[in-house]
Amino acid sequence: MVNRKACIYCGSSRQCDPVYLAAAEQLGRVLARNNVTVVYGGGAAGSMGSLAKGALAEGGRVIGVIPEFMVKIEWANPRITETVVVRDMHERKKQMMERSDAVVALPGGSGTLDELMEAITWKRLGLYLGPIVILNTRSYYQPLFRLLDQCIGQRFMDSRHARMWTVVQEPEEVPQAIETAEPWSEDCRKFAAL
Ligand code: AMP
Repeated sequence: MVNRKACIYCGSSRQCDPVYLAAAEQLGRVLARNNVTVVYGGGAAGSMGSLAKGALAEGGRVIGVIPEFMVKIEWANPRITETVVVRDMHERKKQMMERSDAVVALPGGSGTLDELMEAITWKRLGLYLGPIVILNTRSYYQPLFRLLDQCIGQRFMDSRHARMWTVVQEPEEVPQAIETAEPWSEDCRKFAAL
């Protein structure tokens, strides 16, 4: 994969199990080795910091998109390649997606879930057409997959919507999952609403 950019959603927690931090750091390394620029929230804490550390250690490019208020409270990561300061969280999410060819979600808290759900929702509406890869470290996302199955089973979503995302277990599988994601087009608007 050459000169691509991936938007990474991940947790800011320093207190999560170190297995999640290690997966984020390894993903950073893997993306850098595959010439994929990391676009992320620009923080230094938790999985976000580990992701940036891994990518930079392999000579990769890391772009952080961070709202002004977080810069003021010194949450911005000073070590990354480029920092884009934006007005608010809405602008951050929009820019992170617009600056990327694919999105990847790692385990995280409410912020990560919000970002992942927004990507899925925008793809369902044909506003975002790229791959969505979920790195399911330690089966973290199983409860979410059960809920999404329920959305489809109870006819709040169509079974075709389950094709919007790909699930992988290991960071090493992410580049291939991005490359082989099923194509998605604005035709999805025909079944966006049931
Ligand atoms: P969470 O998954 O709840 O930890 O949220 C991760 C998201 O929350 C990030 O993408 C940011 O939007 C935001 N966030 C929360 N804390 C921080 C922090 N210390 N530095 C940067 N971003 C943060």
